[in-house]
Amino acid sequence: MSEYDYDLFVIGAGSGGVRAARMSGGFGAKVAIAEDRYLGGTCVNVGCIPKKLFVYAAHYAEDFNDAAGYGWQVSEPVFDWSVLLNNKNTEIKRLNGIYKNLLKRNNVVLYNGRAVIEGPNTVRVNGESLSARRILVATGGWPHIPNIPGREHVISSNEAFFLDTLPASVVIVGGGYIAVEFAGIFHGLGVDTTLVYRGDLFLRGFDGEMREFLAEQMHLKGIKLLFNSRIDSIEQQNGRYLVNTAGTETITADLVMYATGRRPNTDNLGLETAGVELNEKGAIRVDDEYRSSVPSIYAIGDVTDHMNLTPVATAEGTALANNLFNNQSRRVDYRDVPTCIFSQPNLGTVGLTEQQARQEYANVEIYKSRFTSLKHTLTGSSEKTLMKIIVDKDTDKVLGVHMVGPDAGEIIQGIGIALKAGATKATFDATIGIHPTAAEEFVTMREPAG
Ligand code: NDP
Repeated sequence: MSEYDYDLFVIGAGSGGVRAARMSGGFGAKVAIAEDRYLGGTCVNVGCIPKKLFVYAAHYAEDFNDAAGYGWQVSEPVFDWSVLLNNKNTEIKRLNGIYKNLLKRNNVVLYNGRAVIEGPNTVRVNGESLSARRILVATGGWPHIPNIPGREHVISSNEAFFLDTLPASVVIVGGGYIAVEFAGIFHGLGVDTTLVYRGDLFLRGFDGEMREFLAEQMHLKGIKLLFNSRIDSIEQQNGRYLVNTAGTETITADLVMYATGRRPNTDNLGLETAGVELNEKGAIRVDDEYRSSVPSIYAIGDVTDHMNLTPVATAEGTALANNLFNNQSRRVDYRDVPTCIFSQPNLGTVGLTEQQARQEYANVEIYKSRFTSLKHTLTGSSEKTLMKIIVDKDTDKVLGVHMVGPDAGEIIQGIGIALKAGATKATFDATIGIHPTAAEEFVTMREPAG
């Protein structure tokens, strides 16, 4: 008989927490998980999944236009937001159920309530004090909205997933993943969309040329991009919002959405009581085995603010469960993590940007291809694709691959495997293309562009 109620008590049933809990349960550990909101966390409920469904929905606007060039005559398409919302909600409910079953099948005890840490081995949930040999904090993050005058008038992406009606116009503030993805969603669904970003060019940290190219493509589609623009205040007037920017411009919109980053969910969890150290951004500090400053308390995923992506959190959950309960020493490899912004078109990327490569390597070679996809030769669409390969000339190793174009997320996933396997440019060149595809361009770029 163990001296503890549980071998592992997980706080937060999002991507990372559920993965760690169910795998640990599968390895025979006695596991509990507490969740006070929704099963599946941000990704399933107000993130990746509903976002991608919205992206599909938005893309139909272009598909209906494109169809004409292929001989299809479609009467004026009509979009019904309530149908999309209902169908999305039904699907998310189904996924919540799947998560519940996954936990049950692996004998994980689920507590629907807020858990608070009372000590290194004690958690309180629903009025009950429970002991655990180890506690895992996997509480994720939450949208952060700066404290500007009129903050009460704005929404975050959380609310965007449940709007009663679709606005006629929207201002989106921010220049990261969420702002750029939602700009494409709203625009595609017929909303007059303006993205306001404080810097020169959105998507700081991504390859410079890709950022410029994506901005160009989004602009061509009709999304208004306002860079170098800061918001002073937001006022409500006759049911609409006046967004006052630091210059002279005032934008009027029916909805204002802030996508200005997310903060780790570490408030009121009892972390201070237990002596868990946080970093300057409020994230839990962990070592490379996900252990916090308190040896019995662990943390994974967005609450550690390391690499805030669902597949990274699940990889961390898998590693932790294996390390703790399966006698395996596993480490997550954070190099060459592929990622995609589901903008329209997508921006997919893996490895170093050109800017990073030039800083780290003496001889960098760039291969590039910019083209109109075969599909658009008949549609009349002005959408272009840009692909880029970054190579270390001294070793021929491919350092980074970037793409802005349809399905870049799908394509870059495969390229990510090649990079993980240490592919050189010669490996790319020796690969036969699949003709005719856009992806084949990655194996047919012969002449360096710089
Ligand atoms: P990001 O951190 O990606 O971007 C935040 C943006 O807001 C930046 O452009 C930043 O500008 C700007 N910003 C920050 N503070 C302010 C401020 N006070 N005033 C004005 N602008 C501000 O956050 P997101 O909210 O877009 O997304 C959160 C995280 O979620 C992402 O980093 C990503 O890890 C994850 N995510 C992943 C997705 C995917 O994989 N497809 C999709 C959605 C989210 P600046 O650059 O100047 O600092």
